[in-house]
Amino acid sequence: MTSLFNDTVHRIQVAVPGPFSGPLSYICHSPVPAGTRVRVPLGSRTLVGLVVDEPADADLNSEKLKPIAQVLDDHPQLSSDILSLANWMSRYYLHEYSSSFLLALPGLLRKGDMAQLPAETWIQLTVQGEAVDPLQLKRSIKQQQLMTQLQILKTASLTHIKQLGYGSAELAALEKKQLIKRRDQRNEQSLTPSGELVEPALTLNDEQRIALQQVSQNQFAPFLLEGVTGSGKTEIYLQAIEHCLRKGQRALVLVPEIGLTPQTLARFQRRFKDELVALHSGLSDKQRLQAWLRARLGQAAIVIGTRSAVLTPIPNLGLIVVDEEHDLSYKQQDTLRYQARDVALKRAQLNNIPILLGSATPSLETLHNAISGRFGHLQLKARAAGQEMPTVETIDMRKQRHRHGLSERLLLRIKQHLDDNNQVLVFLNRRGYAPSWYCDDCGWIADCVFCDAHLTHHRQQFANICHHCGHREVPVRQCPNCQSQRIAAMGTGTERAEEMLVDLFPGIPVIRFDRDAASTRLKFEKQLQKTEDQGAALILGTQMLAKGHHFERVTLVCIWDIDVGLFSADLRARERMGQLLTQVAGRSGRGELRGEVLIQTHYPENPLFTPLLRHDYRSFAADLLQERKKTGLPPFGFIAVIRCDSAFAERAEQLLQEMASYLMQTGKVRVLGPLPALLSRRAGKHRFMLIVQASKRSLLHETLTPLHQHYPRDAKQVSWHIDIDPADLA
Ligand code: ADP
Ligand code: ZN
Ligand code: ZN
Repeated sequence: MTSLFNDTVHRIQVAVPGPFSGPLSYICHSPVPAGTRVRVPLGSRTLVGLVVDEPADADLNSEKLKPIAQVLDDHPQLSSDILSLANWMSRYYLHEYSSSFLLALPGLLRKGDMAQLPAETWIQLTVQGEAVDPLQLKRSIKQQQLMTQLQILKTASLTHIKQLGYGSAELAALEKKQLIKRRDQRNEQSLTPSGELVEPALTLNDEQRIALQQVSQNQFAPFLLEGVTGSGKTEIYLQAIEHCLRKGQRALVLVPEIGLTPQTLARFQRRFKDELVALHSGLSDKQRLQAWLRARLGQAAIVIGTRSAVLTPIPNLGLIVVDEEHDLSYKQQDTLRYQARDVALKRAQLNNIPILLGSATPSLETLHNAISGRFGHLQLKARAAGQEMPTVETIDMRKQRHRHGLSERLLLRIKQHLDDNNQVLVFLNRRGYAPSWYCDDCGWIADCVFCDAHLTHHRQQFANICHHCGHREVPVRQCPNCQSQRIAAMGTGTERAEEMLVDLFPGIPVIRFDRDAASTRLKFEKQLQKTEDQGAALILGTQMLAKGHHFERVTLVCIWDIDVGLFSADLRARERMGQLLTQVAGRSGRGELRGEVLIQTHYPENPLFTPLLRHDYRSFAADLLQERKKTGLPPFGFIAVIRCDSAFAERAEQLLQEMASYLMQTGKVRVLGPLPALLSRRAGKHRFMLIVQASKRSLLHETLTPLHQHYPRDAKQVSWHIDIDPADLA
């Protein structure tokens, strides 16, 4: 109890939401440990903030400080390692101080909700259940399987059982037979990981064994695990995690945005007896809070999640895995623009533990770190189960007769694979019906009124939609320029491709993956399930298909049209295109049958194809690294982009001009711009950017840190932000 007469005053530092570059000072009558949530007054409002571990500003007079309104937690929500990590993030990414701390908290805790786990239902065997032979449950295979599992697990949470794929029906049936019982319990105890296995581990091949040996360390040690798709990287993750759990430590696994499917989860779950929690965008706020609390309390031995899971507090963390480390979804593209892979590296360093970055197509940054010896470099050169790599060929479209952009040669091969009852994957990286709404007589194209971009035609909704700002309009039937009525959709997007494929291959199901057909997590999973349930089928989609999913029955991968990507000006365009092609090609022939990849192009001599044809991503990446070295671009130099937008072009440009002069007079960085952004107008705002380049990271930060003080962030109808280590220079 705080006594009213106790006049000792404690000063605390609080991360408060708002445009502050550091914590704010408050006073309270008893000490509050860092990581605890408090309500604090700010102006006329009361906000939820987080107590941080920072020295108080000595110049501030305590008498002027306001007292906090309320302490929300008995115990800190964030452990000291997470506080240090968030602190590092806020300084590194130069965003509002509080944003990284708040990012570490689930939404409901940010709002001030109670941090308490609801009672969880636990399933336990009865004495009878322990003795019964599961095979006696003749009528239901599912019940047999569940009983077998439970006899291994002894007791398991209902959540865990549901994650394993069992439903209420099996549970009710076993309960009726008095083989199991339920027990509701609010349990905040941590569970020590055992590392015991449900399903036995595979016997590693030589390459895998060597890789695994190196990872089992007890200190900070970053590794690149480079291995072609299907080379057995996931098996190494699983066994490295097993080692970690056997030591009583826990593991954190990061996966790309849509990589966290039931398929992936099931693979981890089938292996380990220990409990696992998944953190992804498909959870409700409540589910997220529960999963997060279980991670924080140490009830989960494995935490598997997407980008923001990198900040989950996990007691006694022993290993971090970042799967598909090159994936762009690790970079947050708004507000706090962090790169989760880099934050994970920092975390591994702070926690002094090993970290494993896996990819078939590593980012140039990571590859450079591995080649230069800063990271351990583990390589798997062959596919684990002995499958051969697919054959890859280009089809020269200049010499081909084609129907709707599909060459006769391609159509013939598709038909042959389908006739053999196999699946064919068709990759077309453009969603919508057609890329544009076009006048055949004068060449007029429907543009977005708010952006400097063409509209994309969507047939199902009969709308032209802007993919940059979401603006939609009903397509005009008459050309506004020449009044011609010969106006129609031009080109092919996935929606139109689906229509064509259905037409060309009657009776064959076409399963589409893009942001329209698989707009939610659930829809995406449904589409994935369909591919598993079908025999011969066409799988059609955008880059969503390149994300590490295992399509067991695909034997042919077709790349419909790659040419638009060959000539993009952006920093990472070629790196990305090489990754995309390699990844998509890797979807082929992962099952028993040898795969085939066909690429349609008008530029078969383009060097971008060479690595693919030879399965040599490495020498392709080496060429790109050489170029980056010449230009001083990452990983040989360090860059930040300052983007600025305004309804008034001059204002944005002028502000950047001022910043450019300021930055240049420091003499520590090179500044390029102001340049119009690649999309120079978006949602009615004019967009400009500055590219800031430095030979050392520290120089970049020294020059950019004071910028926020000099130039308020939302002044005079101009808004701007800094993007450190940007994903692109657009
Ligand atoms: P990646 O993660 O590199 O794509 P996976 O770990 O998914 O590779 O392995 C690809 C396939 O090879 C899987 O079906 C997996 O079960 C199998 N596999 C992996 N390692 C072995 C091994 N040592 N022996 C036999 N099969 C293996
Ligand atoms: Zn016209
Ligand atoms: Zn638009």
